[in-house]
Amino acid sequence: MKIQEIANSYCCPKCHGKKPILNEHGIPRSGKVPLPILNKFLFVSCGLCGYTEIYNLKIAEQLGVEEERLITEEARSKQTSS
Ligand SMILES: [Zn+2]
Repeated sequence: MKIQEIANSYCCPKCHGKKPILNEHGIPRSGKVPLPILNKFLFVSCGLCGYTEIYNLKIAEQLGVEEERLITEEARSKQTSS
């Protein structure tokens, strides 16, 4: 799933709001927070009630790559079979 798709399909589980606030780089890299791992997570907050979901960007982005790879292989197999 791509980040944009996460935003598009967003529906707050608490209030069913559909106005997500994405905070991909909420932690400044040069800031005082000694947790660079936080840069690898996507924070999606509900714009209505503030409920926040956290996505592991590494997994979310890999899934997007996997989908594209499968589509490419499918197209390739169609070409060779004809
Ligand atoms: Zn909400």
